[in-house]
Amino acid sequence: MNCDCKPRIEDDLTRKFAEKTPQGANHCVELQGYALGMTPDSGVVMVAAGEAVLQAEHPKKGGGTRVVNQRQRILFKFCPFCGKSVNP
Ligand SMILES: [Zn+2]
Repeated sequence: MNCDCKPRIEDDLTRKFAEKTPQGANHCVELQGYALGMTPDSGVVMVAAGEAVLQAEHPKKGGGTRVVNQRQRILFKFCPFCGKSVNP
């Protein structure tokens, strides 16, 4: 990412979480939905990611159909919070 949104938001959420639950200790908040992606120059960068479920009916050998699901990761090219490109 070319921004500090993820660590900044995690820090803000951790601080608010700790304020709301002072009886706890070592509070930590980690945003989920991030993965490592490749940049055009073969570098590695952390990017926001989502998942798509692809579904289709396939014919069965004995007749009829069955539903087949596939999951596919989608890497976002822009930060979902500030909109900056993930590429340098
Ligand atoms: Zn950002």
